[in-house]
Amino acid sequence: MTDERYRSRSLWLDQISEPLTPQHPLTGNATCDVAIVGGGFTGLWTAYALTVADPTLQVRILEAETCGFGASGRNGGWASALFAGARAVTAKRRGRDGVLALHRQMLAAIDDIERTCTEESIDCSFERGGTLTLATSPAHVARIREHVAADHRWGLDDHDSQWLEPEEARGRVGAARVYGAAFTPHCAAIQPARLVRGLADAVRRRAVTVHEATRARAIEPGRVVTDRGAVRADVVVRATEGYTPQLAGSERRLVPLYSFIIATEPLPQSFWDGVGWRNRETISDGRHLIIYAQRTADDRIAFGGRGAPYHFGSGTRATFDRDTAVFDDLARVMHELFPNTRDARITHRWGGPLGVPRDWYPSVGLDRSTGLAWAGGYVGDGVTTTNLAGRTLADLILRRDTERTELAWVDHRSRDWEREPLRWLGVNAGLRLSAAADRRESRTHRRAVRYERALEFLTGS
Ligand SMILES: Cc1cc2nc3c(=O)[nH]c(=O)nc-3n(C[C@H](O)[C@H](O)[C@H](O)COP(=O)(O)OP(=O)(O)OC[C@H]3O[C@@H](n4cnc5c(N)ncnc54)[C@H](O)[C@@H]3O)c2cc1C
Repeated sequence: MTDERYRSRSLWLDQISEPLTPQHPLTGNATCDVAIVGGGFTGLWTAYALTVADPTLQVRILEAETCGFGASGRNGGWASALFAGARAVTAKRRGRDGVLALHRQMLAAIDDIERTCTEESIDCSFERGGTLTLATSPAHVARIREHVAADHRWGLDDHDSQWLEPEEARGRVGAARVYGAAFTPHCAAIQPARLVRGLADAVRRRAVTVHEATRARAIEPGRVVTDRGAVRADVVVRATEGYTPQLAGSERRLVPLYSFIIATEPLPQSFWDGVGWRNRETISDGRHLIIYAQRTADDRIAFGGRGAPYHFGSGTRATFDRDTAVFDDLARVMHELFPNTRDARITHRWGGPLGVPRDWYPSVGLDRSTGLAWAGGYVGDGVTTTNLAGRTLADLILRRDTERTELAWVDHRSRDWEREPLRWLGVNAGLRLSAAADRRESRTHRRAVRYERALEFLTGS
């Protein structure tokens, strides 16, 4: 693939000034201590943590395309403390303390990302402005308030998760029709491609061999078979997230669901004067089918969401990275929330696969009997979790017992997804239900807005 085709995968990759052409493909057979399949955040954070802990370790990364080609170079750039798995599952495995332990480690992971960027001179525009979950329809209010109440029931407090009344919420971000918001300070907006490419440079400086344009065909105990030779290693790490079903024997481990983003041109100061959004808070709202946005460091809005159908057989083809219907929907929602973006040019549209396990609960682990390690199934919340995964894998591989290796997601096993066509029917039915619930709420909301406007007209207020 040419440099240009990699750039077209996202605004973020397009903004990388260095060439993206794959470097140093494997030529023939090789050996090392740890072989890592996948050059995204998971693979790179693992290599980084391993070589920081033990600089003598020989580590090789095998990346099918170029580092950051996958979700890591294309995501919404939320480095948040969100862990995708249900708290009830965490509590079942490690009790209520286990929920708070995981939360503390997610916070530590955000700190670790920031610290590493400083130490390795990675300029990924990291800004910890927190997250606002806006109630953009009256139906969202009860749901979002209940999320805040649930956070508190699990032991968090107002410093972690807080309800903002409509006026205060609008003061932070002046979207159209804000009925209140939840706020958490635990999220940074980042330029993710700069982070993933910076990490690749950092591990190369630490003598990790990064073989790009090298596709693994099979992962076996002690060996990775690629299209360019085999690599023998004591430990093999699978870090292939949404692409995992392409590996022989892993077809039903995760399903790839696609998420999509559009980005505007840089918006003028007059727009930001009207809207606020001063701290680059990441933004979402209370609808069922997730939307997410960030104000980029160069003053664009990157606006993303899910909603594309699951593709039969867990395929991940290049043509799936674009979906005109979803792009149009995203533009419509962005224009509704921020009417003054209607005349702004949309310069970039892209998407990519995220990995979803059968129970929607991420996991990390090492099977000592085979030397096979893995991390993934982050369900679209992987920017921070991959950092925790990398440091946890390093602990497990180096046989160090730490507070990370005690966490509930370590060695968690999700069962495999159903065979097709059941998988296709089930996943798409779930997606359609969420979309239908939003459409219902939106119809009710439109009626409520018409009523409010009529009232405003009649009362002159
Ligand atoms: C559009 C979108 C928006 C998102 N937004 C957010 C967000 O704002 N915040 C958040 O926390 N998370 C977000 N996510 C999820 C997050 O990006 C991922 O969870 C995270 O990047 C996963 O990193 P990874 O390294 O495990 O996987 P990836 O980045 O997908 O990396 C996997 C790598 O493995 C390589 N590979 C695959 N198969 C093989 C093979 N056989 N041989 C060799 N190499 C192989 C791929 O080329 C790829 O480079 C988003 C995801 C998407 C798609």
